[in-house]
Amino acid sequence: MNKNKRKILIVEDEFVNREILKNILLDDFEIIEAEDGETALELLNSGRDDLSLILLDLFLPKLSGLELLNIIQANTALNNIPVIVLTSDKELEVQCLQYGASDFISKPYPDSSIIKARINRVVELFEDRQTIKSTERDALTRLYTREYFYKYVADKDKLNPNVEMDAIAIGIRSFHIIKERFGTSFSDSLLVRFSKRLKKLMPNISGMVCHLEADTFIVYAQHFEDYEKFLEEMSADIYVDKESKTPLKVQMGIYQNVDKNLDIDVRFERAKIALNKLRDSVVKNYFIFDDKLKEKELFEEELLEEFNTAINERQFVVFYQPKFNIQGEAPRLVSAEALVRWKHSQKGLISPGIFIPLFEEKGLIQQLDLYVWKEAASQMKKWQEKYHKHVPVSVNVSRIDLFDPTLVETLQNIVKENGLNTSDLLLEITESACTDNVDVIIDKTNALREAGFKIEIDDFGTGYSSLSMINKLPLDALKIDMIFIRNAFTSENDSKMIKIIIDIASYLKAPTIAEGVETKEQVAVLKELGCDIVQGYYFSKPVPNEEFAAFLTAEK
Ligand code: C2E
Ligand code: CA
Ligand code: CA
Repeated sequence: MNKNKRKILIVEDEFVNREILKNILLDDFEIIEAEDGETALELLNSGRDDLSLILLDLFLPKLSGLELLNIIQANTALNNIPVIVLTSDKELEVQCLQYGASDFISKPYPDSSIIKARINRVVELFEDRQTIKSTERDALTRLYTREYFYKYVADKDKLNPNVEMDAIAIGIRSFHIIKERFGTSFSDSLLVRFSKRLKKLMPNISGMVCHLEADTFIVYAQHFEDYEKFLEEMSADIYVDKESKTPLKVQMGIYQNVDKNLDIDVRFERAKIALNKLRDSVVKNYFIFDDKLKEKELFEEELLEEFNTAINERQFVVFYQPKFNIQGEAPRLVSAEALVRWKHSQKGLISPGIFIPLFEEKGLIQQLDLYVWKEAASQMKKWQEKYHKHVPVSVNVSRIDLFDPTLVETLQNIVKENGLNTSDLLLEITESACTDNVDVIIDKTNALREAGFKIEIDDFGTGYSSLSMINKLPLDALKIDMIFIRNAFTSENDSKMIKIIIDIASYLKAPTIAEGVETKEQVAVLKELGCDIVQGYYFSKPVPNEEFAAFLTAEK
């Protein structure tokens, strides 16, 4: 039998009638038969929603055709299968149409070509409607697809031009982790449950909902303010695993009272920007889009677009900040840290605090770091030639650099090309880089040290690495994060934390560097506590290379 033939269910108690219909239809359809209403219902309930048509006799034993029609119409899994009623009762014909039948064929049966034509017409109509529906709705969640959702948003605006509307983006917190832990079929079923919930809640907020992608949903709703309540309703009694009953956590980004002159796309983009501000934050569960966010986003977009030009035109400049050893009688210059700035042709001097996290996120940081390393090395060479001074320079190494298999080689080449020793280049690796993929980081830092580079752990004290991890990590100095310096000299005057870090460092036999040191008092206390090296505004801000030369010539 042809598998692809469309299927028709004939519900008819009289054998002869069934045979007549079968003979007419057998060439084009696969025929399934039921002799009474109950059998038909059982068949339908056993998952026969792949039918293209039901031919239904009205006078049936057990369950009448009209009753069956009612049941079918009330069942959402079945009520889109078209039904053609077979009857000899003229009055019932009209009633059947009212009950949801698509058409009727009266008995005694008309000419076979008429039957065929009517059946084909209904089946085709049904299929057209199915095609429309299948593109209108997402296969998994049965919510609107984006295309249709946008269309309905436009319709809604046209109908109610003066109603204030919100564009909302909704996400499930840590969805990728749920998927990883429990598998795709579980996470899919979670999405289905969540979608049903969303759909149910839409009337409460006069909204409509679309499944955009993965765990992201978008909602267009009449402006409302009780976001906490809505968040609660969305996730109530939905759990991400059955045993420990971990409740589902939902987050949303809201673009309130949308500007209807904006493209629909742009409106939901704003809601998504607000949502992205929250992703995986543990404390907040909703965020409202504001103009500042828009400006920041636009600004960042521009920076990303201009990155290549900036590299090619050498708009990135490296500043140097001296580090002094304070344990002797007078402070002694021991090294410098290379810190990058962007001398933008229109935007002025941009600080790395703005573009480094952005470039890390967008995968551009390696390119920039390489640029800075080369720049710092060639500067060191110039200083050595001009002032005959050997002052090592530290450069920042991003977490992602550590996963580059050619890192050691790259750094070695830079050093070699500038006639330097590997020990001239200090590498600052932030502590937070050391908390995941511990083994890779340990192996890589070992390899770097074997090649002769010195490792300084940056921002120490903020990265949650365990003592045993730090113990295994090969290092040459610990840089105490400036937050501890700040905290130590506020009202509390509490330098206990600094003391603890210095104790850890001495246990690891590593010198300590305090950064962000701004006052004489701070220097004195740090010296007292046994801190070896100090970097900060007290001695100097990071300065351009020409200015840094003053520190080299000042040294005896
Ligand atoms: P960081 O590595 O912790 O650098 C120290 C930051 O503290 C620098 O900020 C420096 O200018 C600032 N600073 C130094 N002394 C003081 C002080 O006394 N008071 C105060 N308030 N601040 C002080 P900057 O230059 O804005 O750099 C920010 C961050 O950007 C750096 O933090 C580093 O993580 C990153 N960064 C800078 N250049 C590069 C680079 O070439 N590559 C990478 N991957 N990151 C870089
Ligand atoms: Ca640093
Ligand atoms: Ca630091």
